[in-house]
Amino acid sequence: MTDVDTFARPLRDLRISVTDRCNFRCTYCMPKEIFDRDYEFLAREMLLSFEEIARVTKVFAGLGVRKVRLTGGEPLLRANLEELIALLRDIEGIEDLTLTSNGSLLRRKAQVLAEAGLDRVSVSLDSLDDAVFASMNDVDYPVGKVLDGIDAAAEAGLTPVKVNVVVKRGVNDHEVVAMAEHFKGTGHIVRFIEFMDVGHTNGWRLDDVVPAAEVVKAIHARHPLEPVTSGYKGEVAERYRYQDGSGEIGVIASVTRPFCGDCTRARISADGQLYTCLFATSGHDLRGMLRDGASDEEVAAFLGSTWAKRDDRYSEIRSTDTVGLPRVEMSYIGG
Ligand code: SAM
Ligand code: SF4
Ligand code: SF4
Repeated sequence: MTDVDTFARPLRDLRISVTDRCNFRCTYCMPKEIFDRDYEFLAREMLLSFEEIARVTKVFAGLGVRKVRLTGGEPLLRANLEELIALLRDIEGIEDLTLTSNGSLLRRKAQVLAEAGLDRVSVSLDSLDDAVFASMNDVDYPVGKVLDGIDAAAEAGLTPVKVNVVVKRGVNDHEVVAMAEHFKGTGHIVRFIEFMDVGHTNGWRLDDVVPAAEVVKAIHARHPLEPVTSGYKGEVAERYRYQDGSGEIGVIASVTRPFCGDCTRARISADGQLYTCLFATSGHDLRGMLRDGASDEEVAAFLGSTWAKRDDRYSEIRSTDTVGLPRVEMSYIGG
């Protein structure tokens, strides 16, 4: 078990980006103008192998990590991801193994992922309207196929499925209630995410952020809600349930109600850099250590001492000063 960081936060969650590539070009994440044909994605040998990821995860588990989430980029673009799931499933201490996906490959992969030991999935879907969704994913991807991916996940037992909606002012904020209604009573949990200033390519402006409180108010006016007290401390979503018992929604208010005080997450980029915050400006080279022959004990000591020094609380100190700073992209570090 590792010690806590400088703000007394333990290490509990690990998010692992398995690829920086994606088949979508969401305007808030991988805008086309930057992530174009000339963009240099990571070469294969730069990516951590499945064995390297499993080894590092085992060391993290020894330090207190209980939840692992695979992300990217689009994690399902990484070939044979189920082999990694099976390796992670075998690690003692990992109680919750999940993945975040844009849903496009779930119909093909959900069953095999579930069989390999994946517990649940979160699927991103920003709109129920094809035109709005296409303007956000920027590759003309239709809503129906993501909904089908969500169905496939549910059929494979990867439940409850969480549906992530990034809300952008003037783009999809008019659809908040319709999104909630679509999934009300299905067992799936919609989570509305405030548009964040990750990376430096998505043209973030505070005016584009729809405060979570506004989302909750709009839904509550139509379908009365009540707060649910969080099951565990590092929970990023604030949860609400319908008073009529037909399910729950969540909001992730990283801009208007930051939750750094409870942030127990470490992140590993696809090329094996360790980040202690989504908004970190630089990482720590884990891949180098692994490939230079470090022992598990040395890796553990390095992770433990890096965590002990951790003082990140970007969202709490977000200001005009910090907004201009260089940061890594979400598709690289993983959302
Ligand atoms: N490709 C997968 C997907 O879209 O679910 C996984 C990676 S994606 C980076 C993880 C999550 O981050 C998604 O739910 C996405 O909507 C969210 N995200 C990306 N950029 C964001 C931003 N600027 N603000 C808030 N959420 C963002
Ligand atoms: Fe791809 Fe997910 Fe980023 Fe959209 S949010 S561009 S699907 S990585
Ligand atoms: Fe955690 Fe950094 Fe996000 Fe704060 S800004 S919640 S420290 S990842």
